[in-house]
Amino acid sequence: MIEDQDFIKTCDVPGPTKEAIRAIILYKSDVKDTDNVVDIGCGTGGITCEFAQRAKSVTSIDINPQAIEITKKNLKKFGLENNTTLIQDDGENAVKNIDNIDIAIIGGSGKKLENILEIVNTKLNPKGRIIITAILVDTKVEAVNKLKELNYNPKIMEVNISKGRVLDRGIMMMSENPIAIITAKKR
Ligand code: SAH
Repeated sequence: MIEDQDFIKTCDVPGPTKEAIRAIILYKSDVKDTDNVVDIGCGTGGITCEFAQRAKSVTSIDINPQAIEITKKNLKKFGLENNTTLIQDDGENAVKNIDNIDIAIIGGSGKKLENILEIVNTKLNPKGRIIITAILVDTKVEAVNKLKELNYNPKIMEVNISKGRVLDRGIMMMSENPIAIITAKKR
């Protein structure tokens, strides 16, 4: 795993997704070196960099050109440019042109999550996995409902990570989240 502090960051782009959350996402995705991954809303490339180390290919999409720029820098920093493609576009638009998806991660979608899920569903291979990270309660509900409508059996977990800051007078636990991780597998 890459440590949070090792990613290049900028205040204009959210991320990276915290290390413990990245670890759960990797575990839940069951990623293999034959898998083609898309990371929609790649932000700083936190998730992209982890999957680039383990998957066959990663296509990372973000609507924000600065996110694509910083993801590129992080991929370069960790020497992971070989099996990655970066697309600066709306996720809904970009994913229309991508086939043969084994794992779709949606970390940002604006108000287009339902549309993106509809398209991802048509592009996802049998036994493919969808993973959505959601901070807004509304996104969590929308994700679960849309996956149900598309005939998936979605699972949702709420993750709260607190890390200890060791001080002279004791240990102060500092909260880093919460975030929900919604997962579904194509039947
Ligand atoms: N997982 C990332 C953080 C994601 S933040 C990391 O580890 O760094 C969410 C990202 O989703 C933002 O960069 C935002 O620009 C992007 N986003 C929001 N709506 C989008 C859309 N419709 N299409 C593509 N990207 C989108």
